[in-house]
Amino acid sequence: MPETKLSITPALTIPDFLVGEVQSKLAYVDEWIVNARVDPSGEKIDLDLSQPAAAERAGELAEKVQRVVASLVEGAFKPKIQVLEDHLDRPAPYTADPHTELLARGEISQEAQGIFTLGPLVTRLVEYFESRFRELAVSFGASPYRFPTLIPARYLERVNYFRAFPHSLTFVTHLREDLDAIDHFAQHAACDEHGLNEPAGSFAPIQTLLSPAVCYHLYFALADQPLPGGQVVATAVGNCFRYESTNLTSLERLWNFTMREVIFVGSKDFVLDNRETARQRMHQVFESVGLAYRVESATDPFFIGEFRKQSVFQSAFQLKFEIRARLPFKDSTLAVGSYNYHQNFFGRNLNISLPDGTPAHTGCVAFGLERMAFAFLAQYGLQPENWPAAVQVALQERIE
Ligand code: AMP
Ligand code: ZN
Repeated sequence: MPETKLSITPALTIPDFLVGEVQSKLAYVDEWIVNARVDPSGEKIDLDLSQPAAAERAGELAEKVQRVVASLVEGAFKPKIQVLEDHLDRPAPYTADPHTELLARGEISQEAQGIFTLGPLVTRLVEYFESRFRELAVSFGASPYRFPTLIPARYLERVNYFRAFPHSLTFVTHLREDLDAIDHFAQHAACDEHGLNEPAGSFAPIQTLLSPAVCYHLYFALADQPLPGGQVVATAVGNCFRYESTNLTSLERLWNFTMREVIFVGSKDFVLDNRETARQRMHQVFESVGLAYRVESATDPFFIGEFRKQSVFQSAFQLKFEIRARLPFKDSTLAVGSYNYHQNFFGRNLNISLPDGTPAHTGCVAFGLERMAFAFLAQYGLQPENWPAAVQVALQERIE
């Protein structure tokens, strides 16, 4: 009898440091998989399927799962995590999952998977944290920018984004400029459980995507020219889009989220010194808001395959540090921001040159606004009277 559950024994045992990564990549293995769990032992993977799989289909699914596991596990070794700050034991009074209470109180509502509307409480918190991140930008004299939500495909191609993160891309299109196609669409467009029933061939070729990050727009604006004044500090807030499939659950992981970034472009020392200064300044901010967190080395969520090497490289050269806030309700942590150094990757690929003719180095500090609010609520709950004084006072001022 075909089953909607499938249990697979990976040919290679998944080491504990890769359990989370394998689990998140399983979301992209097959459309029939609605839920995947990697046993903490690393020796069993349980799949829930959208429909019963006969023997042949089950074999096909197992083969794809084994392929992902092999690609992530073969030759992998445990990265050495470097901890720059550890304040995880800062006392935080709340222990429940704020998601349930936020939903129950109408403080968030879900439009679709990974797409949420934020009510007044979360909005005020987001605005408060935003103001603290903006203060950081001002402390560097950062020039303000506003970037579009859309990003041209040819830009992302130039920085190799399609190879590195194909699984999380979000594409944008429009109807072809064709009277019959537009007319047909207008007459027949309807949604069913699979989505919009567009007739084949209605859409124009894809030239644009929804932007996955903020700082890329600055690098594109600076491309193919000498860097003005030899160094730039900029800041912007923007909508970002990363499709994370079944991993999209609460404010923890969104398809559409907002990021505030402070971006540094210049020499290697300029970028690295400023990244470090930003971390030290943020240390004071996080202390004043009572956040339990730590800052540790990390890697980007590359797709499987050749990018395994890229992760190892990122670790070895300490290119990325994450601010990981404690989530007491699940005894784990969540990245609410990151301190990044890209070496001269964008300078080389986009031809941004320093006064001595060499490619510019870049780095950014990036804060996820919804995640910051979510982590704070997970630590302090929804009652403002239980919040640290600095946050209470600032929010009170915003209401008055
Ligand atoms: P990254 O550029 O990957 O370091 O992302 C910067 C920050 O954006 C992260 O530390 C998160 O706070 C936030 N972020 C990234 N992906 C998501 C997501 N899918 N949902 C919500 N926030 C996110
Ligand atoms: Zn960035």
